[in-house]
Amino acid sequence: MSMFGARARTPSGSLPVTPSAAGIDADLDRALDALAGVIRTYGEFAFDLDQVKADETRAECAELVQRLVMGPARAESTPSSPPPSQRDFGSARRFFEQRRREERDFVVRSSGNMRQALQAFAQCLSATITEDKLDDTRVEVELERLVDVVGKRSPDVLEQQLGVLVSLVKTTVSRRREREKRQVQDLGRRLVELKAELEVARTQAIQDPLTELYNRGALTDELERVASLAAFLSAEPCLLLLDVDHFKSINDRYGHPAGDAVLKALADNIARHFMRREDFVARYGGEEFAVIARETTLERILQRAERLRDGQSRLVVNTPSGPITITISIGIAQHEPGEAPAIWLERADRALYAAKHEGRDRVDVAPALPLASLMPAPALPR
Ligand code: GH3
Ligand code: MG
Ligand code: MG
Repeated sequence: MSMFGARARTPSGSLPVTPSAAGIDADLDRALDALAGVIRTYGEFAFDLDQVKADETRAECAELVQRLVMGPARAESTPSSPPPSQRDFGSARRFFEQRRREERDFVVRSSGNMRQALQAFAQCLSATITEDKLDDTRVEVELERLVDVVGKRSPDVLEQQLGVLVSLVKTTVSRRREREKRQVQDLGRRLVELKAELEVARTQAIQDPLTELYNRGALTDELERVASLAAFLSAEPCLLLLDVDHFKSINDRYGHPAGDAVLKALADNIARHFMRREDFVARYGGEEFAVIARETTLERILQRAERLRDGQSRLVVNTPSGPITITISIGIAQHEPGEAPAIWLERADRALYAAKHEGRDRVDVAPALPLASLMPAPALPR
């Protein structure tokens, strides 16, 4: 079924839909779903531009989805699909044109800055080399003069020439020293700036922009790291997968920005419940989160998961669209000795699925794997 069912309903009293018209409607539904997905993904991966912050782009994308797919107003509590004529495709096109232009300007300016920095560096280096050459030539000339006067001129002239040479060498050395000091200071300043820029880039690469938790990429790395280290830990680590119950209806009823606020509040709540140094909290996907908890027992994890689930069901999130309360379902899998990260994740996912299936607002623990499945596969007969 379509994510929004935007065109699935036939207005009462209209002519019956022919099979081919129904097929076209289904295609349009899928196209609208795909478009909504593309706009959301664009928003999810937005980055700060010169004039526009990533958060603003994200909110605008959410609004676009609202206008394009679910209708402009939200008067009643159930979603109403606007007739096709009311969908605002024009503003979507204008939005993307404008944003792409801003992105291009941003990229051109950033790469221009880099080019200017490199040019300045090259000019500085070439000026230094030229200055050095000039100084060396001057010293060479005076040295030659000295050699010349040693045999031919009076001691006075010799002394005078020596004086010239000494002062020239002195100024050359002190000028060179000054320049080197300035260059070291400049380099130091630039290194500090680069370090800060690298730090920001590194954080952006592993952080989910909406919730500021680790992102899925970071979770995948951590799962592999923890699974490979599990044998050295005091207890097998646990993986928790958390998913908001009926979140789609929260979006449908209160709008995407309110849904985002709920996700942010949930992320904060999870982080508050799993804040030990050994806990790793990530946003796994849209409204799904993951926690890897080390150096503790399954019983304690279960207690903490229950506390989180219970607390969440009572937490009221105040959003501009009104107060919202959600429940969450949690699946837990304790790592088995030698278990591959993908299998570990799959078991946690199955436990989450079971929690959903049994009525949601529940915590389920994955059963331990049968021993045989952990044995290395026997070699194939030759
Ligand atoms: P279930 O109880 O079975 O999990 O039902 P559900 O409605 O939560 O499940 P489903 O996976 O069908 O819906 C998840 C929804 O989450 C669909 C998508 O529109 C929404 N979503 C995904 N990412 C975001 C996001 O970043 N912000 C908001 N507001 N919604 C999101
Ligand atoms: Mg989900
Ligand atoms: Mg859900």
